[in-house]
Amino acid sequence: MPELPEVEVLVRHLAPLLMGRTIRAVRVRRAKVLAPTSVREFTRTLLGAKFSRLARRGKYLRFELRRSKQAEPLTLLGHLGMTGRMYLLPAQTRLPRHAAVVLGLGRENFVFEDTRYFGRLTLDVRALARLGPEPLEPAFTVEGFACALGRSGQPIKVKLLDQSLVAGVGNIYASEALFRAGIAPALRACKLRPVQVGRLWRAIREVLREAIACGSTVPLNYAGQGARDGLFYFGKAPGAPDFYEERLQVYDRAGRPCPQCGTLIKRRAQAGRSTYYCPRCQRK
Ligand SMILES: [Zn+2]
Repeated sequence: MPELPEVEVLVRHLAPLLMGRTIRAVRVRRAKVLAPTSVREFTRTLLGAKFSRLARRGKYLRFELRRSKQAEPLTLLGHLGMTGRMYLLPAQTRLPRHAAVVLGLGRENFVFEDTRYFGRLTLDVRALARLGPEPLEPAFTVEGFACALGRSGQPIKVKLLDQSLVAGVGNIYASEALFRAGIAPALRACKLRPVQVGRLWRAIREVLREAIACGSTVPLNYAGQGARDGLFYFGKAPGAPDFYEERLQVYDRAGRPCPQCGTLIKRRAQAGRSTYYCPRCQRK
């Protein structure tokens, strides 16, 4: 499931391709992904609008469009859900079976494909108001982080998935950050000592930065066949090696040796999601 780094890499890829392009046709094949926006409102609002900006917020893609130079920009909010992909395809190329929304841009189509339809492409932007600070921006302070953790009795791994605590961290990078900080995933958030809070705050930023840097150097093929290149579920260029295989230290590595101490990595379920950790390096 794409998290902050995967969305950031996608935004950097798409932004120059979309800037200044006008939407000339709107085709909605799965109305569910627009919810609560209706197909009619979606089509009426976007037809003729021009992409003026694309940014990431948490795991969301925030598309800004203008209907004319004077008009207020309008926001289109995208979320990849579990299996969503967004890319441009030449207009004459046959659309994939799971194309949920297709925006005609002239010679190319912007395609939002989603095999499981948990993703979103909507004019409803209320989700943004519930997001906490961006982990790589100054708004994410160690003091604010400490304060929020101190008020929570949840296990720290579960709390890290709360998008109002910090935006964009999901199951993968929560496990990785806790491993790097040497903190047991079941420890209650309010029980972290100040030194642990500081280590975790730094670890979150490091794992996200490294993942973005890694994704930025790899020839990903966003319209490719859904092959998983490490964590980048966008598909990879034909013949490209699997760049990411050994990138993660604990995530999805149950039963394999910890890269630090050789103890076997364990998997446990927390709030219905898998957590991966080293029982020796993450004792407290
Ligand atoms: Zn270990």
